[in-house]
Amino acid sequence: MNPTRPGAGWIEVIAGPMFSGKSEELIRLLKRAAIARQRVQVFKPKLDNRYSDGDIVSHSMMRIPCEMVERTDEILPRLDPRTEVVGIDEAQFFDETLPGVCGHLANLGKRVIVAGLDMDFRGVPFGPMPTLLAVAEEVHKIHAICTSCGAPAAYTQRLIQSDELVVVGAAGAYEARCRRCHEPEGAPPASEPWLFSPGEPAEEESS
Ligand code: ADP
Ligand code: ZN
Repeated sequence: MNPTRPGAGWIEVIAGPMFSGKSEELIRLLKRAAIARQRVQVFKPKLDNRYSDGDIVSHSMMRIPCEMVERTDEILPRLDPRTEVVGIDEAQFFDETLPGVCGHLANLGKRVIVAGLDMDFRGVPFGPMPTLLAVAEEVHKIHAICTSCGAPAAYTQRLIQSDELVVVGAAGAYEARCRRCHEPEGAPPASEPWLFSPGEPAEEESS
């Protein structure tokens, strides 16, 4: 349900790096909906169970109960028809069918609030997030504080070596960095031409 037009479904996305407050903002919006006596259901992917089963927990220890699902196609069968607001956290870990599920929920008249990492630790757009950002009616792109210099941070720096794209639950494995301080590992993938090494301005053409 769109808060300004009751009964009209829509999608809003909260995107940013780790520590930017995505979970806090999702929890804040969902708690306000509950205060307004709207029925709320919250989902997150099972792979992320850092703190506890059945809760979304922010880095500042705000929490709200949630349903853990292993796959995107578990969301619709679990939907209570009376639910008015659907929250989804860690959306980057769902597959490419998530935007379609969110669109379906919005078409049913639900307010869908999705939070997720817009880029992985390399700075590459993450999973279904780019599509969600495109189809959402409202986008909140939020920043953390760069751990190196204190500037607004849009990137997530991985501090440990791993061959895996996703390393969940390793305390101290990530920190927030701004564009200048972010150090992507290895060479940027050829498919991501906007990535170049931090601190190295694009080469100027010599005349
Ligand atoms: P996200 O879901 O985006 O990872 P959370 O909502 O879980 O973020 O946590 C946000 C909280 O993390 C902030 O309110 C703050 O207390 C804490 N925090 C820790 N490190 C940072 C940082 N570098 N920048 C901003 N907040 C930070
Ligand atoms: Zn910085």
